[in-house]
Amino acid sequence: MELSIADIKQRVGAAYDFDVEEKVEGLEFKGERIEFVAPLRVSGRVENLGKKLYGVTGVIHAIIEDRCYRCLAKTQVNLKIDFNFKFSESPEKYREEEDEVFPIEEDTIKLETPVINEIILNLPSKVLCSPDCRGFCPDCGADLNSGECSCNETKIDPRLRVLQKLLDTSND
Ligand SMILES: [Zn+2]
Ligand SMILES: [Zn+2]
Repeated sequence: MELSIADIKQRVGAAYDFDVEEKVEGLEFKGERIEFVAPLRVSGRVENLGKKLYGVTGVIHAIIEDRCYRCLAKTQVNLKIDFNFKFSESPEKYREEEDEVFPIEEDTIKLETPVINEIILNLPSKVLCSPDCRGFCPDCGADLNSGECSCNETKIDPRLRVLQKLLDTSND
């Protein structure tokens, strides 16, 4: 995932559009393995901002596979992340900047590190396989998506138990 600045380095304001696709390895996040289901796609624009600074803006498209936090089923998640990175041939000049400025070596902008960082920052904390996933029964552990368990039949809500008592005594 590399962009060349060779054609735009002579003139401030020079820019070009790009659209790159690359297969990347999965990544480790909070002890969980996250896989990329499809190649990463990054498109946007590189611009010579002057003072040896280059701006790269665009959007990252990634499809990852994670587990549903309720039922643990493998679930695909489409991510679309807008980004705005800065690169420089002399990044040390910009150490005081609020935003990180990434180095350019041999006229080459390497997008992979900032792109992966951006994906990690934007990973959803709770993935659901479907908005109405019912997860597991907290009592017996049955997967409620594949059917009702028998816990509900035997368990009576404590509020109802009071009612039942009343009914029982009135029957006497
Ligand atoms: Zn689920
Ligand atoms: Zn149950």
